[in-house]
Amino acid sequence: MFDNLSDKLDKALHVLKGHGQITEVNVAETLKEVRRALLDADVNFKTAKAFTNTVKEKAMGQDVLTSLKPGQLMVKLVKDELTTLMGGETAGIDLSGNPSIILMSGLQGSGKTTFSGKLANYLKNKKTKKPLLVACDVYRPAAIDQLHVVGEQIGVEVFSDKGNQDPVAIATAAIAHAKENGHNVVIVDTAGRLAIDEQMMTEISNIHKAIQPQETLFVVDSMTGQDAVNTAKAFNDVLNFDGVVLTKLDGDTRGGAALSIKSVVDKPIKFIGTGEKMEAVDVFHPSRMADRILG
Ligand code: GDP
Repeated sequence: MFDNLSDKLDKALHVLKGHGQITEVNVAETLKEVRRALLDADVNFKTAKAFTNTVKEKAMGQDVLTSLKPGQLMVKLVKDELTTLMGGETAGIDLSGNPSIILMSGLQGSGKTTFSGKLANYLKNKKTKKPLLVACDVYRPAAIDQLHVVGEQIGVEVFSDKGNQDPVAIATAAIAHAKENGHNVVIVDTAGRLAIDEQMMTEISNIHKAIQPQETLFVVDSMTGQDAVNTAKAFNDVLNFDGVVLTKLDGDTRGGAALSIKSVVDKPIKFIGTGEKMEAVDVFHPSRMADRILG
């Protein structure tokens, strides 16, 4: 994960290792390389610039821990700032409703259906949760079948209504079904398009208004880099979602989406997808990810 970024940051931070003290010159030299590493990872320019400016201020500031050598100090400052950039704290999901309603949003192929299954499986394994999966893609019968396959695989009921063209009606009926049958979590998988279009946005916005979810999650393929960030912005403008799910982090992704999304939409990454299997999901921990990036 983020191997290229890790390598480049390691090289950048190495510059300071031989130095006895922090100086404006060696900090500037190091941060120039750090910025280049971030830009190469597809972090947007503004974010990368703000990042290095903050680290520079801290490195040159009063509150520097003088017990650390310059190399160690810079690693610590960069790690702290990477953690902040990715949201600081771990953000949980709100499961206080009965049922708790979770709405998935995102483009087609981002991994919504897969993640819906992963989340249902994750919650089911918590024993106190009895999830219901809901298929709301009225355009692609194959998407409904796919959710049924996932549901069968993990032993979670799937609510669908093939032929019904009204996703709001399906979602509403699913919630009534959940209440009658003791499901305390309802996960609503929605239709996606290959690119953002007005009809899709109107449709998901209507579903959102009708079912008033506790959690609206935006699912995005981390391999899409800056496009992931732009898509997040478009969905957030319409849905004001609660969190991001970053999928396909097991692939050869450069890291830009993980590092830029929080600063652009100000919403936390809540989960990451790390494979196609139902178990390949993790709660996102910014500090652990920063540790991993810096090796
Ligand atoms: P949807 O159209 O948004 O519902 O996307 P899908 O859930 O159908 O996923 C699209 C493709 O991405 C499928 O082939 C999934 O198996 C794959 N996929 C989803 N999440 C991950 C992940 O975290 N890692 C990998 N490697 N593949 C994933």
